[in-house]
Amino acid sequence: MAVPLLDLKAQFAGIKEEIMAAVAEVMESQYFILGPKVREFEEAVAVYSNCKHAVGVSSGTDALLISLMTEGVGHGDEVITTPYSFFATAGCISRLGARPVFADIDPLSFNIDPKKIEAVVTERTKAIIAVHLYGQAADMDPILEIAEKHKLAVVEDAAQAIGAEYKGRRVGSLGHYGCLSFFPSKNLGGAGDGGMVVMNDDDRAERLRVMRTHGGKPKYYHSIIGGNFRLDAIQAAVLLVKLRHLDKWTEGRQKNAGLYRQLFGEADVVVDLQDMNGVKGAVLPEEGSDRRHIYNQFVIRVDKRDELREFLKEWSIGNEVYYPVPFHLQKCFADLKYREGDFPASESAARETLALPIYPELTEEMIAEVVGAVAEFVQ
Ligand SMILES: *Cc1c(COP(=O)(O)O)cnc(C)c1O
Repeated sequence: MAVPLLDLKAQFAGIKEEIMAAVAEVMESQYFILGPKVREFEEAVAVYSNCKHAVGVSSGTDALLISLMTEGVGHGDEVITTPYSFFATAGCISRLGARPVFADIDPLSFNIDPKKIEAVVTERTKAIIAVHLYGQAADMDPILEIAEKHKLAVVEDAAQAIGAEYKGRRVGSLGHYGCLSFFPSKNLGGAGDGGMVVMNDDDRAERLRVMRTHGGKPKYYHSIIGGNFRLDAIQAAVLLVKLRHLDKWTEGRQKNAGLYRQLFGEADVVVDLQDMNGVKGAVLPEEGSDRRHIYNQFVIRVDKRDELREFLKEWSIGNEVYYPVPFHLQKCFADLKYREGDFPASESAARETLALPIYPELTEEMIAEVVGAVAEFVQ
């Protein structure tokens, strides 16, 4: 049985009429950029993220970029982040002429290790970007404490984590800026690119809103230089429909994660990270007891990951590596002068992790098929 990594057509089948009606309404209105639909969607996401403000932007990448721009990050500044994330996390720092400074991850959660941060803070440090990777919140309390002590802005890269919680608090509401992505493969995915910045700080929200339309306030009078970071009404209309289904979909993902744990356990192939050597088992993702994990990805670790990928190809089981090269070993960051061995936890994660299908519409049979294939390989 073929099992795709993600099946957006299965999701669309259940909401087609609602989506088509929402798109038709925008077409009838001929109001395409920002406007009342975007405003309505911003308010809904602000409530969902437990934040005072939400500003719709053109993508998750632009959410990160505009947050750093609003914070005034530029040449000579440093921004601390993880070496193990989607490229945009670090790319947006360099695009502003600032220097990305990396701190290694915790090997179990794959999120930045707060204990590694303080050693790399300098007088040039302006901000910390904490990524909530795979849908689980980073350990935010110690990060917020360090930020407060050194007067740093905290940007949450919550592109994979809308609705995730840390000690009962929603991601995006913890730092100064919460960056969301509505790329189609995210848990709340649009019909194209889109993103949002959620915030509680009134001044930052006001500046960011102006930054979104070239920095003009009033229109055509510029005291700051912004850009075109606008969200469009068709995305907002589609996403408003999908937001109503999000919690149900998240529960589906969580249920699938539970089923994976049960079936991998029954197949007797689960090992702890420190015992993982040779083809002896799979390490399952850690779920913190004080977190609401929304499972954008379900990521296992195996020793011979690339061989497992070849094996799964024969079974037609979708999978992906997020991400094969940590930032400090990317060619474009060679001038940062990091070397192999600098961030061992990120480097082994990049060698060993594999994302398996976790989308809500998966059937029990499909999950059993995936477990059967992985178990056959690792046993
Ligand atoms: C998807 C993603 C982004 C970028 O979002 P886009 O909407 O694709 O620009 C940034 N950071 C992380 C961790 C992501 O997963």
